[in-house]
Amino acid sequence: MKEFGYRRADDVSGAVALLAAEPEARYLGGGTNLVDLMKTGVERPALLVDVRELPLDRVETTPDGGLRIGATVTNSDLAAHPEVRRRYPALTQAVLAGASGQLRNMATVGGNLLQRTRCGYFTDVTRPCNKREPGSGCSAIEGEHHNHAVLGASDHCVAVHPSDMGVALTAFDAVVTYESADGPGELPLSDFYLPVGDTPHRETALPPGALITGVTLPPAPVAARSRYRKVRERASYAFAIGSVAAALDVRDGVVHEARLAFGAVASRPWRARAAERALTGAPADAAAFAAAADAELAAARPLPHNGYKVPLMRNLAVAVLTELAEETAR
Ligand SMILES: Cc1cc2nc3c(=O)[nH]c(=O)nc-3n(C[C@H](O)[C@H](O)[C@H](O)COP(=O)(O)OP(=O)(O)OC[C@H]3O[C@@H](n4cnc5c(N)ncnc54)[C@H](O)[C@@H]3O)c2cc1C
Ligand code: SF4
Repeated sequence: MKEFGYRRADDVSGAVALLAAEPEARYLGGGTNLVDLMKTGVERPALLVDVRELPLDRVETTPDGGLRIGATVTNSDLAAHPEVRRRYPALTQAVLAGASGQLRNMATVGGNLLQRTRCGYFTDVTRPCNKREPGSGCSAIEGEHHNHAVLGASDHCVAVHPSDMGVALTAFDAVVTYESADGPGELPLSDFYLPVGDTPHRETALPPGALITGVTLPPAPVAARSRYRKVRERASYAFAIGSVAAALDVRDGVVHEARLAFGAVASRPWRARAAERALTGAPADAAAFAAAADAELAAARPLPHNGYKVPLMRNLAVAVLTELAEETAR
């Protein structure tokens, strides 16, 4: 591993100043992704700026009734927070579906959103990978890609984003707040991750050196009836091969409002807006749920070995929406 410096940031502006002074620096959250990537040589920072002592470790109710989640809140604390469990249950379920108890105790909200893809060619520095080394090629397109993207990919990269938390946050219109050398800013999560295009190494719209300070969830009464379901290759401690975050408000048998996001199908948590449009005003039954899922998945472009993801996502969406509709009817 390359030698690196270590500094513990005392305040937000000091952390941002350290990054501005050293372009090869990285923020250190729980280190559960970054340190692994340093060990394999994918990341080679000159300096780690530890942000875990910053006063960004609280979950608070906002004046309009939403939630403000600090960037250094651990995954465990987020999942256990009573207001998250009561008002955004799919978020608790998504976080608890990820990693292990020990990892969730270390991992932070900011780090979770910025964790890198698990594409095996990205983590293997001996293989071409456009995301790690722009212009070198994509080994996955002609190689091992059974867990790669079916939506929104490009000829330059077909990797998926691995976060479970991000899928639920996307369904609930979360907004990322940050501090940069030019001052504070915010980005809706829907604009936070950049389209892959021919620049897969550019993953987010964050300004260089920006520190994520938190995530704001707007009030969303529909989220109180929400669910996260994850499919993986073994029962626990595995990344998703497909996941769904959904919320449903059904009135007199008709969908009044729906939220739907897919995980492990694209380079970003995927908001299923075509499906949401199809659902709104439709009868709350399996046929309408399947039609909505089909509307979203019409844009899918599977590779030779990941076509299974299209029916998987359809079945998963129908199952989760059906469960939510049955709960509403009770
Ligand atoms: C064995 C294993 C299994 C896992 N399974 C899952 C799973 O099933 N689902 C899932 O979602 N995740 C899973 N994970 C990933 C885990 O959730 C992430 O590693 C973790 O959330 C990253 O958070 P962290 O705080 O440790 O980030 P770090 O490793 O500290 O940082 C990750 C990146 O974010 C940057 N960063 C950190 N904080 C900030 C900030 N405030 N502002 C700007 N940049 C910042 C760092 O510079 C780095 O680039 C797994 C990880 C492991 C090791
Ligand atoms: S899918 Fe993306 S991350 Fe994987 S090898 Fe291709 S360019 Fe690299």
